[in-house]
Amino acid sequence: MQALVKMAAGPGLELRDVPRPTMGINDVLVRVLRTGICGTDLHIESWDPWAARTIKPPLVIGHEFVGEIVEVGANVSDFQPGDLVSGEGHVVCGRCRHCLAGRRHLCPHTIGLGVGRHGAFAEFVALPMTNIWHHWPGVDPEVAAIFDPFGNAVHTALAFPTLAEDVLISGAGPIGLMATAIARFTGARHVVVSEPNAYRRALALQMGATVAIDPRERKLSDVFEELDMVEGFDVAMEMSGDARALRDAIGSMAHGGGVAILGLPTAEISLDVNEIVMKMLTLRGIYGREMYETWYKMTVMLRSGLDIKPAITHRFPFTEHAAAFDAARSGESGKVIMDWTT
Ligand code: NAD
Ligand code: ZN
Repeated sequence: MQALVKMAAGPGLELRDVPRPTMGINDVLVRVLRTGICGTDLHIESWDPWAARTIKPPLVIGHEFVGEIVEVGANVSDFQPGDLVSGEGHVVCGRCRHCLAGRRHLCPHTIGLGVGRHGAFAEFVALPMTNIWHHWPGVDPEVAAIFDPFGNAVHTALAFPTLAEDVLISGAGPIGLMATAIARFTGARHVVVSEPNAYRRALALQMGATVAIDPRERKLSDVFEELDMVEGFDVAMEMSGDARALRDAIGSMAHGGGVAILGLPTAEISLDVNEIVMKMLTLRGIYGREMYETWYKMTVMLRSGLDIKPAITHRFPFTEHAAAFDAARSGESGKVIMDWTT
């Protein structure tokens, strides 16, 4: 099969002919239809310090996908060839305290698809049946392809109640863009998006942001008066990984507010803890998706009218992977999709 492979330590990716993944009795083999490019894939492609520490080549990369089941292991009875599915990219141990208690998103032994095991940027991918999510008939295949990052957005956006609240989203990358639509859908009063990139600010407005500001030009508190906000934000979603964005968010919260932190900083961040204490803020880290409550909420919200499609801006056949990666890296994009059927 054709697959996008990190062949050796160092920058670059190669489209290679590799054997189909082997599968065990509990596994499902999926013919990949479409995939989404994640920041993780860009890190692996460019071979940054995180990738150099983490990735053991040769490795088929990629974890955001939708596909059709072609084969199931002998133990698998819930799925059949022909089913349209996506995969939860975190393969958990199943045996630790958290897994046994049904808190699989907290498993400390998680192995990432396309990170610690062969991934989905390929014509076929194999996963344990417990990592497979069955789609409903008629699901938009492009939306289905990005259930993984959509799940990050939903997990973050549902961390604190948003009904009638004023919400800050810092970082309008693909995940911040989806979170904007979710916050709207879940009844926020105002959704203020902070993002230095003008292309992405325009997309944020399309996704339902009340206002999208450039944090280099305006302070967050500048919008309070025009939005009839008394004190500050009730809920913040940090989706940039940027130190200043997190500090600005904390500095503009109302007392008792909740800050959900999804963005992954590349270095330590110092914070004014007095501000967190005196305002009695709750800071909550968000990793991955809850298995499978987040997936359930994602499905039901989409089927009830939530529209995340405008966050998808570019499509390429997998043979044009270099152009697809360039588009994802450029910042002049939302989510970039690769088509594995052409
Ligand atoms: P992205 O890099 O495409 O988007 C981040 C955005 O933040 C960019 O558009 C950038 O311009 C913007 N930004 C930079 N500095 C800013 C500032 N000071 N204020 C406001 N915005 C600023 O990333 P993405 O794919 O949308 O992912 C969002 C974040 O979530 C990333 O940090 C990513 O590493 C992280 N992530 C975490 C998880 C998890 O499980 N915790 C999963 C996926 C991604
Ligand atoms: Zn576990």
